[in-house]
Amino acid sequence: MEVIVCKRCGRKLKSKKSKEKQIGPTCEKKLLLDFYKKRQITIDDILRKGECDK
Ligand SMILES: [Zn+2]
Repeated sequence: MEVIVCKRCGRKLKSKKSKEKQIGPTCEKKLLLDFYKKRQITIDDILRKGECDK
């Protein structure tokens, strides 16, 4: 069996989805959070904007 590790933390990935992305779910969330922090937008802001657009 092929061993694929997370490109962020180097842990072995178990789920098929994680292996496809080469990143674990926890690290994926952290990457997303970092991304939004850099843009000074939070996930909450995006969700709220989505509601206002209705
Ligand atoms: Zn990881």
